[in-house]
Amino acid sequence: MAFIGGANAATLNVVASFSIIEDFVRNVGGDRVSVTSIVPVNGDAHSYEPKPADVIALKRADLVLVNGLQFDPFMQRLAKSSETKAPVVEVTKGIEPLKNTQEGDGHAEKSDHDDHDHDHDHDHDHDHDHDHDHDHDHDHDHDHGHGHHHGHDHGEYDPHAWQSVPNAITYVKNIADALCQVDSGGCDSYKANAGAYTQKLQTLHESIKAAFETLPKDKRTLITSHDAFGYLGATYGLTLLAPEGTSSATEATAADVAAIIRQIRQDKGSAVFVENISNPALIKQIASEANVAVGGKLYSDALSGPNEPASTYLNMMQYNADTITKAILKK
Ligand SMILES: [Zn+2]
Repeated sequence: MAFIGGANAATLNVVASFSIIEDFVRNVGGDRVSVTSIVPVNGDAHSYEPKPADVIALKRADLVLVNGLQFDPFMQRLAKSSETKAPVVEVTKGIEPLKNTQEGDGHAEKSDHDDHDHDHDHDHDHDHDHDHDHDHDHDHDHDHGHGHHHGHDHGEYDPHAWQSVPNAITYVKNIADALCQVDSGGCDSYKANAGAYTQKLQTLHESIKAAFETLPKDKRTLITSHDAFGYLGATYGLTLLAPEGTSSATEATAADVAAIIRQIRQDKGSAVFVENISNPALIKQIASEANVAVGGKLYSDALSGPNEPASTYLNMMQYNADTITKAILKK
């Protein structure tokens, strides 16, 4: 990569794994950077199947940015097969990750996991007394078993760290540092852009906090199809339940679904949402069996296209907060 100067100055080619990182890079990189995302808007990274064009994109990249925490392990495989010379940087570096606990796995019941049926293409040694202790993932190569449709591996940690705005501020700092590493000439500009954008994130954080503070303490349970909002809940005081775990590639069991329906019937304060990246059928079925209305659509693991309300991170987070607040206050 070389800057030639003048009107046609070469730009830095950045490839992000998914649309939320892409949006951060656009804000931090400004005119010096051209950024693309591998997983498209409204796409599901958990089940993404890389395409030949992705290999070429990584080969041409000056910098590759990934979420990490087992959200986008296909990027490491792409980096390898493309033989890209670009550094591959995890933008969650330095955040405090949430553990994939039993509750965080989205299962509403603590026991009775013997009926898990989503292990069929995985090493059965792990599964005889599957107890949601995911430490076994640690010792494996990153490539092992992840990213397949039917794999149940979702790592030791919940990867959806961007759902807490303070974490997004860390993403932005890491992105500015990574851009400075590959383009020291633009570093002042990246830092200035990151500073200005961070102020917007701080305003967003205050706004979301204020919205959720209007919610009654006994009406703060949200149900979504996969467990993508654990960081939102931890930061802003909400309880999240999901029939699927922290990877949408895990299939919900009948027992998990039944437990969630029981929970909604008991707890009249629960609100139910579909997600932009998931088939809404399961959530619609749950809402109908629990006799509640779907509270709207939340944007979980990807931004929307330009004609929907979540085409930037700032808009996405505010829209989700507004949708949740409206749905709960209506109850
Ligand atoms: Zn997810």
